[in-house]
Amino acid sequence: MLTRRLLLEHLGRAGGTAATASAMQALGLFGSTAALAAMPDTPQDFGTGKSVVVLGAGISGLVTAYELEQRGYDVTVLEARQRVGGRAWTIRDGDTLEMIGEAPQTARFSPGNYFNAGPARLPSFHQNILGYARKFKVPLEVEVNSSRSAYVVANDGSKLRMRTAINDTRGHIAELLAKAVHQGALDTAISAEDKAKLLPFLTVYGDLEDNFAFAGTTRSGFGTPPGAGVGTMETPAAPRPLSELLGNEQLPFSLFEDNMFMQATMFQPVGGMDQVSVGIERNLRRRALRGAEVQRIRHDPAGVTITYVDRASAGARTLRADYCVCTIPFPVLASIDADFPAPVASAIAGVVYDHSNKVAFDAPRFWEREQIYGGISFVGGETALIWYPSWGLHGERGTILGCYSSGDMGEKFARRPIPEQIAMARAMIDKTHPGHGADCINPIAINWTKVPYSLGPWPAWNKTNGGPNEGHNDTAPYRLLNQPVGRIVFASAALSQIPGWQEGGIMSAHAAVAAIVAQTRDRAPAEPLRRAS
Ligand SMILES: Cc1cc2nc3c(=O)[nH]c(=O)nc-3n(C[C@H](O)[C@H](O)[C@H](O)COP(=O)(O)OP(=O)(O)OC[C@H]3O[C@@H](n4cnc5c(N)ncnc54)[C@H](O)[C@@H]3O)c2cc1C
Repeated sequence: MLTRRLLLEHLGRAGGTAATASAMQALGLFGSTAALAAMPDTPQDFGTGKSVVVLGAGISGLVTAYELEQRGYDVTVLEARQRVGGRAWTIRDGDTLEMIGEAPQTARFSPGNYFNAGPARLPSFHQNILGYARKFKVPLEVEVNSSRSAYVVANDGSKLRMRTAINDTRGHIAELLAKAVHQGALDTAISAEDKAKLLPFLTVYGDLEDNFAFAGTTRSGFGTPPGAGVGTMETPAAPRPLSELLGNEQLPFSLFEDNMFMQATMFQPVGGMDQVSVGIERNLRRRALRGAEVQRIRHDPAGVTITYVDRASAGARTLRADYCVCTIPFPVLASIDADFPAPVASAIAGVVYDHSNKVAFDAPRFWEREQIYGGISFVGGETALIWYPSWGLHGERGTILGCYSSGDMGEKFARRPIPEQIAMARAMIDKTHPGHGADCINPIAINWTKVPYSLGPWPAWNKTNGGPNEGHNDTAPYRLLNQPVGRIVFASAALSQIPGWQEGGIMSAHAAVAAIVAQTRDRAPAEPLRRAS
């Protein structure tokens, strides 16, 4: 039997402390400080006199900088962009989106609206990022990740409310299972005792009649809604035939909210996802140096030399430090002049990144008149979904996403001209909410593979071997890049088991801090610690 302890040992071997720590969190074995337990316990002045240059001010770089400063290190953060947060990018009215090979787009949103072009939601079990938000007083609100009023839209345009898809399917399956039990088909699979318990459970599970038939359920919606006075009692909506449910290609997405990463309660920072990064930076002793594009990386036994260009003046600058933590995304790092050993350079060049796109519009809140308050309609194809805003409910206008697609479909979508991408997203909204495509104005489309300083949303470590991504990263390049190159340590969400989540970036940052502390300790005989007191 795979006990919880054996599971943890297995994860520990496969993924190191961070994997064990997140698994322990997931199993509820410890609380909010889970992965922090892997952080080195050092005096506050441990790193005094030692310098670290952090490349990149995304969540990994900012957390690295904060935690090293807390341990006394002198930290400089170099960031190519004019803002912090990296992929945690909130686009607001007036912001410009520039992509390689595309015309710049300027965002036009009504007051209070914005577009989380990258991350948009935080699961409850991502206690590291939620912990920093709490610590730095970044206000959070609930992100409504699923709505039972939203739709699953079949390829032929027919659609089901999520509540119908979930509960009618469950009703039919419960009825079928009850039939199988009555016919004795499961007699060898379950004991008589369990069989006796299963049947009454199935009546509750599927909302079955006394004869174990499924005749519809108010869980799927009302035929007649309950009213006031006499003669206004509720009736269930007529059940949809099983063949119609199974014929809807998006039916599997009725299970979307059961995915551990998508389960309520989910959160978002008030006003935009970048607020967590902004909050962390506010608590750094020294702000990130913006517009500082790293162009050359050299290391030697005594330290690291970084050459960067100040983009405002185009002047080259050189910075020397005892250590370096590099969080630059691998597709970007691959073309930076660096003296990494050949196997490391080829590992960096070989990391395959996924594709991901979003298309946002400013629109009157027509979806709320269909009782949709936040959540997602699944539409399939290259645009994949329609995502409704969780904030500003009952306001006049909101930001609606007409596309959020990744993988092969995302790759195909990103190859289309931007106007065509926008037209497809608008058409899908119109198909799902007839007549409202034209209400969606001021579009903005992002294709992450074309975004400078990112060049992709997250790595697909197992794309070439066809394996799953999250939680199963253990290729030789993945292992190699999780190792320091002398005094350079890599940190990034890409080097975690959850490359598509900021939490992974934080766990990787914590591992980088531990690696710098360990090197500092190991070198202490030759490079004595200069404690402040
Ligand atoms: C579409 C999309 C949806 C996502 N959804 C979610 C979600 O809902 N929830 C969630 O938690 N996560 C989500 N993620 C994942 C999350 O955004 C990332 O895991 C995380 O932000 C990565 O952080 P990082 O610090 O590792 O990298 P980055 O954020 O990419 O930081 C790297 C930094 O390096 C800088 N840089 C690059 N080149 C140079 C250079 N030459 N010199 C100096 N600086 C440089 C960049 O500008 C950047 O600031 C999503 C990502 C995308 C793209």
